[in-house]
Amino acid sequence: MRAQFLMRRRLVGLAILALLPFGGGCAGTGHWATPSLPEAKRQVGEYVDSGRYEADIAAVAEKARTYLESRAHRGGKLAIVVDLDETALSNLPSLRANDYGFIGAGPCDLPRGPCGLAAWIMMAKAEPIKPVLALAELARQRGVAVFFLTGRPERMRAATEANLRAAGYAWTGLILRPDVLTTRSAAEFKAPERKKIEEQGYTIIVNVGDQASDLDGGFAEKTYKLPNPFYLIP
Ligand SMILES: [Mg+2]
Repeated sequence: MRAQFLMRRRLVGLAILALLPFGGGCAGTGHWATPSLPEAKRQVGEYVDSGRYEADIAAVAEKARTYLESRAHRGGKLAIVVDLDETALSNLPSLRANDYGFIGAGPCDLPRGPCGLAAWIMMAKAEPIKPVLALAELARQRGVAVFFLTGRPERMRAATEANLRAAGYAWTGLILRPDVLTTRSAAEFKAPERKKIEEQGYTIIVNVGDQASDLDGGFAEKTYKLPNPFYLIP
């Protein structure tokens, strides 16, 4: 599935590149809404460097925190479900090193780049996204189970566990996608996995992720969408 995601992401990039000559031709008319690729990257960099990205994450996490606090009081066998990349963990060093382009294969040379995504994940050096770490800690303090649910493949489990531990997380379950997957989208994988958690008797009160595909398909009382200006996973 990752390969499919990556392929689609690459296709989006190619589509933008294919449009560029026309974009250039239309720029003078003022009717062309798509920014050039350098301009789009500049805007992403500015969004991150200005602190707005972090502030937007904190605002969403605060809403989740408020709901968790109020809901936990009512009791039950409760759980939260948390996505990993750009939700629990930040891949910003690798994204920056690639000037917000996507590089899947090859070594990860930091901070200069390029930085291959798989190599970066295996380094297990992603920092926690702090408002999400605080949310996970609050859940555990309130007796609410924490399940991580990620599109990272099962073969990356050891590195992923090491990274989560180093980042300060504790959890009840870590669900990675099978190395060979047949679903067409992340939502088609993740929603049934949430259903399985509920079949264990849990009520998922909060589901937080940076992609709509982390949240679509039900099996959560409330969903919380973090910003991700870097990539889109269908
Ligand atoms: Mg994610």
